[in-house]
Amino acid sequence: MSAKKRKAKPKAKAKPRAKPKPQSKAPASPAPRSKRVVRAPARVPIVSREPKPVIPVPDDLAPLGAHISTSGGVALSPFRGDEVGATAMQIFTKVPNQWKEKEIGADEAAAFRTALKASGARFVNAHDSYLINLASPDPVLRARSLESFKAELRRCHALGLDALVSHPGNYIDDRASGIARNADAITEALESEPGPTRLLLELTAGQGTVIGSTFEEMAALIAHLPHALQKRVGVCLDTAHACGSGYDLAGDYDGVWARFDVALGYERLGELHLNDSAAPLGSRKDRHALIGEGHVGDAAFRRIMRDPKLRAVPKVIETPKGVDMVTNDRRMLRKLRAFAQG
Ligand SMILES: [Zn+2]
Ligand SMILES: [Zn+2]
Repeated sequence: MSAKKRKAKPKAKAKPRAKPKPQSKAPASPAPRSKRVVRAPARVPIVSREPKPVIPVPDDLAPLGAHISTSGGVALSPFRGDEVGATAMQIFTKVPNQWKEKEIGADEAAAFRTALKASGARFVNAHDSYLINLASPDPVLRARSLESFKAELRRCHALGLDALVSHPGNYIDDRASGIARNADAITEALESEPGPTRLLLELTAGQGTVIGSTFEEMAALIAHLPHALQKRVGVCLDTAHACGSGYDLAGDYDGVWARFDVALGYERLGELHLNDSAAPLGSRKDRHALIGEGHVGDAAFRRIMRDPKLRAVPKVIETPKGVDMVTNDRRMLRKLRAFAQG
């Protein structure tokens, strides 16, 4: 299932999304206690457990959402996305900090596709396992990483996902050799696993020997791939990682994007991860914070949400979840939508 195919849906979804609003407002307007304390009100139930979208979603925004849990089965994730008002979702298709692989069976894929169709999500990407290091000089680790990465692609294809977001690896010994190893492994994986899912290489914060913390290095990595495969590859820009690697979206917004455009071009930008950064500019650290509560700041996120060049780019938050899985995400997505509107 391609992104195009799902794009037709949001209009049909717009009506049911708008409906729950009066209900959800009901608890916020309690009757005066002194007068109505014993009368059972004829109004709507105070707490509804019905699964329903919480936030009316404007049709003119590109998909905007959050990293959503697949605990209990991947088919539950579209329902959870609706709970926070997501029109984009990022998921893990396996436990991300374990090597144990998993294949998606036909039943599981069908259940996911059905749930997705019934949801408000128009864009879904998977994020690959944190253990994968396609740039490793250790042949055993690199071979294991390659098998794991191929399995990531297979699961994405089985589920019909739009994109797989993947961190470039750690070169460990020598940067240029690491970039070549990383690119060769990507090439082998894409050649052996053809399918509709676009690979999006995520900008890194630059900790240790990690590859891909500059736009130019990301471009060099992509340039190593055979020309025919390059069209299956794009970039995911994470604003917290950009801050860690020294891109000053708060102080030099236009300069950062001009540099992106020269090195990579906007057509390579397949997704944005919108996270504030608890670590300072240039710290080379990857520490996500709530929007407006870090070193990127509200003003930069407002510009991103209002930037015509970024308007069509799917946007996903990976901000701290807090006490439950929904409250912070709802608040962050509401805030970003408000930025887009003015
Ligand atoms: Zn990531
Ligand atoms: Zn990210």
